[in-house]
Amino acid sequence: MSIETIAKKQRNYFYQGETLSVDFRKKQLMKLKKTLIAHQDDIVEAVHKDFGKSSFETYVTEIQVVYDEINYMLKNLKKLAKPQKVRTPLLHFYSKSKIMHDPLGTVLIISPWNYPLALALTPLAGAIAAGNCAVIKPSEVSSHTSALISKIITENFDEQYLTVYEGEADTTQTLLKQGFDHCFFTGSTEVGKKIMQTASKTLTPVTLELGGKSPCVVTEDADIVKAACRIVWGKFVNAGQTCIAPDFVLVHESVKHRLILLIQEVLRRFYGEQPLENDDYARIITEKHFDRLVGLMDNESILHGGEYSRDTLSIAPTLVDDPDWDSQIMTEEIFGPLLPIIGYDSIVDTVHTLQDRPKPLAFYLFTESEVYKEFVMGSLSFGGGCINDTLIHFANLNMPFGGVGHSGMGNYHGKYSFDTFTHSKSVTEKTTLFDIPLRYPPYSSKVLDW
Ligand code: NAD
Repeated sequence: MSIETIAKKQRNYFYQGETLSVDFRKKQLMKLKKTLIAHQDDIVEAVHKDFGKSSFETYVTEIQVVYDEINYMLKNLKKLAKPQKVRTPLLHFYSKSKIMHDPLGTVLIISPWNYPLALALTPLAGAIAAGNCAVIKPSEVSSHTSALISKIITENFDEQYLTVYEGEADTTQTLLKQGFDHCFFTGSTEVGKKIMQTASKTLTPVTLELGGKSPCVVTEDADIVKAACRIVWGKFVNAGQTCIAPDFVLVHESVKHRLILLIQEVLRRFYGEQPLENDDYARIITEKHFDRLVGLMDNESILHGGEYSRDTLSIAPTLVDDPDWDSQIMTEEIFGPLLPIIGYDSIVDTVHTLQDRPKPLAFYLFTESEVYKEFVMGSLSFGGGCINDTLIHFANLNMPFGGVGHSGMGNYHGKYSFDTFTHSKSVTEKTTLFDIPLRYPPYSSKVLDW
């Protein structure tokens, strides 16, 4: 079907009403899950072709998260979709009121390349659960996984209901102009601005899941051993190509040296002496990204790693010592396996420094101090984060996942996905058995006692 007609065709299908029933939605979610189970090996193979990633990492970071979201929806959908009865002010006597959770209609999901399956299909599960039709535009950069997503969806679903368009920026812009009822975008802050600009022409509401530089602070009283393990895991999974990876570490000067030694030890334990040859270590997605990352190391003091191979697009886990705040590595989102480590003396000054920067998608604090926990977490605005760990807040469907300010607007996961893809429609029903004419004109005879 041509791009120009897809939104209209899906809207016509939506108004036939089939997607409204909870049973229908559950059947589609089950079908999606069964299809994914049947294609699990193909998914592992496609992601491996795109990233050279291990099957374990692909299962945990790409496949399981989609199953979790689908399972949540299957378990909770009936309750989520049920109209909510609410009280009505006595003034409207006799009426009853309810909030209906209406599907939005047609939804456009635009996804990035870094977790190509999860970031396309997790929002899709929410869109299906909420009773919408959807178009997915996966990233052209992760071409093998995107082609597989297209195959899986088009072979199993009617295109009037769910479909996929592969393509680049121009395809996405053409899709956006078709006037969908909602656009759910995951990608960079720069492209997010362009999405919002185009969406404004048709007043298409947007959810923007964007990026940025997520800081990680380690205080002097932190459990440094645990901090080292958890920072290395969160930073170097997917070779740092994770939107919520710790972008840089700020560590109290008194424990900086020890943290660096421990991070080096953990890196050797996780990825061996030759990480470029380790099958558990992902590669960089494209030559363009590889060249950008290698460029970020220019003129920086490398504490560890720094090796790379353009033939295999691999860059070793690399620690960068005390870069300047206005250097390129500290002003652009790294999105790769380079970890700047900067010492600090005062937590108050550090918080002020972070307050002056764009609000990040994630923030991580390693400390044993209740005072620091309260002060730091309460003083900074960020999408979400952890105390004494990294990334794991993403995998809790009881919490919304999303950014704030430059890292995005809106959120999803679990109930929050359902809410993102529904409209809360308020309906009051009044009795016709009697009428109280107090509110009707003429008003001249009515005296208000203010
Ligand atoms: P990107 O913004 O370059 O691309 C995302 C999508 O937008 C792709 O499908 C792409 O084809 C499309 N696109 C690109 N240019 C466009 C344009 N001018 N008009 C319309 N569409 C366009 O992002 P990326 O490089 O694929 O992903 C990396 C970025 O995504 C990082 O900044 C990362 O932090 C962010 N990200 C955020 C989250 C999150 O949940 N907040 C998750 C993953 C990645």
